[in-house]
Amino acid sequence: MNNTDLLKVAKTYGNPVYVYDSEKITAQFKRLTNAFKGVRKLKLNYAAKALSNINILRLMNSLGSGLDTVSVQEVKLGLLAGFKPETIIFTPNGVSLEEIESAASLGVRINIDNLSILEQFGSKHPDIPVCIRINPHVMAGGNSNISVGHIDSKFGISIHQIPHLLRIVELTQMKINGIHMHTGSDILDIDVFLYASEILFETAKNFKNLDFIDFGSGFKVPYKEGDIETNVEELGKKLSTRFNEFCKEYGKELTLAFEPGKFLVSEAGYFLAKVNVVKQTTSTVFASVDSGFNHLIRPMLYNATHQITNISNPKGRERYYSVVGYICETDTFGTNRRINEVSEGDILCFKNAGAYCFTMASNYNSRFRPAEVLWHQGKAILIRERETFDDLIKNQVDLQDLFAPKKEQLTVK
Ligand SMILES: *Cc1c(COP(=O)(O)O)cnc(C)c1O
Repeated sequence: MNNTDLLKVAKTYGNPVYVYDSEKITAQFKRLTNAFKGVRKLKLNYAAKALSNINILRLMNSLGSGLDTVSVQEVKLGLLAGFKPETIIFTPNGVSLEEIESAASLGVRINIDNLSILEQFGSKHPDIPVCIRINPHVMAGGNSNISVGHIDSKFGISIHQIPHLLRIVELTQMKINGIHMHTGSDILDIDVFLYASEILFETAKNFKNLDFIDFGSGFKVPYKEGDIETNVEELGKKLSTRFNEFCKEYGKELTLAFEPGKFLVSEAGYFLAKVNVVKQTTSTVFASVDSGFNHLIRPMLYNATHQITNISNPKGRERYYSVVGYICETDTFGTNRRINEVSEGDILCFKNAGAYCFTMASNYNSRFRPAEVLWHQGKAILIRERETFDDLIKNQVDLQDLFAPKKEQLTVK
């Protein structure tokens, strides 16, 4: 996708708007698959929460991906998008037994990450196989908001509780078909990841009838210049070799599974917003766009850097701007960014807007969530309409009579 393509999308579908490049998603899927060509059975389960538009899910399904889901609603979206139940895995955290049961009744694979629910589920449904999410207490690196391997993490069953876990499995006679971990959002150091994998292999030896080992995700993609990205080729080589060795030792050809979200969709996404105001204060030049953390919250929530370019004036002189939103709260997308000279009406493009962007959007300030467009085979296709005023009020119960003004209050004297 080039600037002209993006400008055309904004012109046709309005702004702000999300645009996703199907070719980039496909390329990332192939790259990851290729990195693990050394293992016989590989399954990538796309993490739906990164970007859950049904057409993106359909694209993933057509590529041969499975689906990683964290709510029964995501399970239902996956089924609606054509995924076979057995290619969907439900990996929730802190949900009720009832929700897990309703996912199980839809025929999808179940991943349980705490002993309490494991014991309850196993007692009631010993015949439904379950995968266990382990916390190996290894941090693969990155921001502490998104690292889930540390000792106080709410995710997974601690490896220090394996004896307790084994007792539950033995007493309930439940079947364990997989072992899972998801250590955090950024794999920076492959050796650290391999170290966590060893803990998973060690745990796996306790279960005789596994079908798969799921290594979660954490593939890091570059957001800004100089960012390290996970070397998936190196990881693929090293982990594949070790995995094959383990399968021999275990006596069965297991499936190696991953659940990438960000890796598959982050770089495929562009967010386009229009500059409403250029405002020079004593110390800063602000470019205010027709958006805010209601549409793209990662910069404010995670301190994430999304590159911003001016696609309306790509050859203009570079100047420094603070790019901010229109929400009545501080909502800074980026400070001191060198951007080609910005005029009111220009379209700014935010990169890496595929993962955790639209899916985290809200209606704060009673604004509409943006439209979504798929760029596919050289054409722009609308895949979600922009919301309308009706969407804002459709679930509100309007108690007109309860607060109807009394007649006399209405008369103006
Ligand atoms: C969110 C999530 C993922 C995807 O993580 P990315 O960093 O987007 O690849 C994978 N597995 C589980 C269990 C998750 O919750």
